Amino acid sequence: MKIAIYPGSFDPVTNGHLNIIRRAANIFDKLIVCVMVNASKHPMFSLEERTELLSRVTRDLANVEVDYADELLATYAKRRGGCVIVKGLRATSDFENEFQMALINHKINPSLDTMFLTSEHQYMYLSSSTVKELAGYGVELRDFLPEEIIPDVKQRIQNMK
Ligand code: ADP
Repeated sequence: MKIAIYPGSFDPVTNGHLNIIRRAANIFDKLIVCVMVNASKHPMFSLEERTELLSRVTRDLANVEVDYADELLATYAKRRGGCVIVKGLRATSDFENEFQMALINHKINPSLDTMFLTSEHQYMYLSSSTVKELAGYGVELRDFLPEEIIPDVKQRIQNMK
């Protein structure tokens, strides 16, 4: 069974992430979407909340599992039997950093490869941080976020004001 891991911050999951998840789930037998702890980011949603939001928007996808981890991605992938890391590539700005991470992960765990799915054009400009900024100005979020999580994001923004 080919297991792929899709790691990220998902703070919160966007339509761009969901597009990558759906496409990767069609390619691999099983896709584990893993919310990674990133000490350098100050997330709006806790690890558990981000995991719950992801579980909510992927519940129709039978071969997708949502998990979270506070360990090295290469170690996590080995522990879970993953052979491929899936990443989404938006524009050239993502490339250098992603290329470096792919090489490092392969060095640490040589049986692990990274595959990139290019972003679809309508999501090229989309990031969690952009969405949070727009939400703060009351912009309509339907083109950016899965419908089921929009109330959660609006509520969190409201609580932060
Ligand atoms: P961000 O906070 O920038 O949205 P994440 O760490 O949550 O980033 O992203 C996890 C993975 O999803 C990364 O590989 C990132 O390149 C990819 N990704 C994020 N947004 C998009 C998008 N709109 N289209 C395609 N891939 C994306």
